[in-house]
Amino acid sequence: MNTDFDVVIVGAGPAGTTTAEHAALGGARVLVLERKKAVGTPVACGEFMPVTEEVKAILPNAPDLDPLFDVPSSLVSRHTDLIRIMSPKPRSFDLPFRGYTTYRDRFDSHLASRAEKAGAKIVTGAQVTSVKGNEVSTREATYRAKVVVGADGPVSRVARDLGLPRNQDLYPAITSHAVGDFEPVVEMHFGGIAPGAYAWVMPKKEGANIGVGVAPKFSDGRVGDYLQTFIKNRGLQTVGRPVGKYVPSSGPIGRTFTESGLVVGDAAGHVIAVNGGGIPIAMICGRIAGRVIAEHLKDGVPLSLYEDRWKEQVYKPLRTAVHTKMLASLFFGSPRRLEFSMRFLGERRMGNIIRCKPSFP
Ligand SMILES: Cc1cc2nc3c(=O)[nH]c(=O)nc-3n(C[C@H](O)[C@H](O)[C@H](O)COP(=O)(O)OP(=O)(O)OC[C@H]3O[C@@H](n4cnc5c(N)ncnc54)[C@H](O)[C@@H]3O)c2cc1C
Repeated sequence: MNTDFDVVIVGAGPAGTTTAEHAALGGARVLVLERKKAVGTPVACGEFMPVTEEVKAILPNAPDLDPLFDVPSSLVSRHTDLIRIMSPKPRSFDLPFRGYTTYRDRFDSHLASRAEKAGAKIVTGAQVTSVKGNEVSTREATYRAKVVVGADGPVSRVARDLGLPRNQDLYPAITSHAVGDFEPVVEMHFGGIAPGAYAWVMPKKEGANIGVGVAPKFSDGRVGDYLQTFIKNRGLQTVGRPVGKYVPSSGPIGRTFTESGLVVGDAAGHVIAVNGGGIPIAMICGRIAGRVIAEHLKDGVPLSLYEDRWKEQVYKPLRTAVHTKMLASLFFGSPRRLEFSMRFLGERRMGNIIRCKPSFP
């Protein structure tokens, strides 16, 4: 039994390491347990980040974002100014939107080093097998902490062990790397190529991150087969093995804290339902979690404050995205209906949707 930590965090993705950084900055003794051998690898991500100005437009109630998203320029692979939405026909809709692709493995490592610099300890190759009350066990050791954090991704064991709800609606997504030259434009392809979700091309400095997500409700094959069809139809040439994972798509879970534990990031459903983007929200909610934990340990504030704060900062846009996604489900079943609805929406309303604003005033 090792009791030297105030906080044990399960998972060293953006949610876990940002929570760790801010709890440690507030004076807590923090341990992060990560099952992967190296933080950030393998990469199961489209690697797209909106620029901070766009994050501010999407999440206007989240304060002080510049320091949070101040990443070194070496982590920026390619800047993009446009999202090109392709309808089933295919017809293209160009939406001005500024973002960049990153190197997700290095991005996650960078966040991990920020946490370590603040004083957190990160142990890799440590798979958590159970959480019982305040005891967190791996196969090798059991740790007792005053606060336990589940930052363990979409299929969260910690949420289950803490008795919290888990993500209801998960869809599989898979990514690969394409070689060749690509325009500085993000492509999102809708229709039968990726039923209920979309296929993407995210240009990088060399080649592009490509991938496909599908909603189980609308698809009748494996996500890997959809990826192969997309590669063939789009005329892509790929290298390396595709990597897949789940994306939560039903919005935040109903409760994200207990008396001495909380969940954050994908584990809490902190994902934009319309596009599966979760890195910025994981970091914003991670910062809130870390700060509240530090206040809890110092002054005894209840952990419910964490849920109050993340709701103040990000709940409304996340709920709007869930409503839009539910509305879109009415059209996803038929390429003709989807085509019609996309034409009806046009570029302006699609621009609103991508920024988590209601599609209709
Ligand atoms: C294919 C795909 C493409 C995506 N593209 C984008 C994109 O372009 N832009 C974007 O913003 N978002 C994207 N997302 C979503 C984004 O990746 C997630 O929202 C984000 O990673 C959430 O961060 P997190 O820290 O909550 O979870 P994760 O990054 O999943 O981190 C969870 C960590 O917990 C560890 N873990 C899990 N269980 C245990 C355990 N029992 N013990 C120890 N460690 C454990 C995992 O190994 C992992 O490292 C994509 C997702 C997928 C699947």
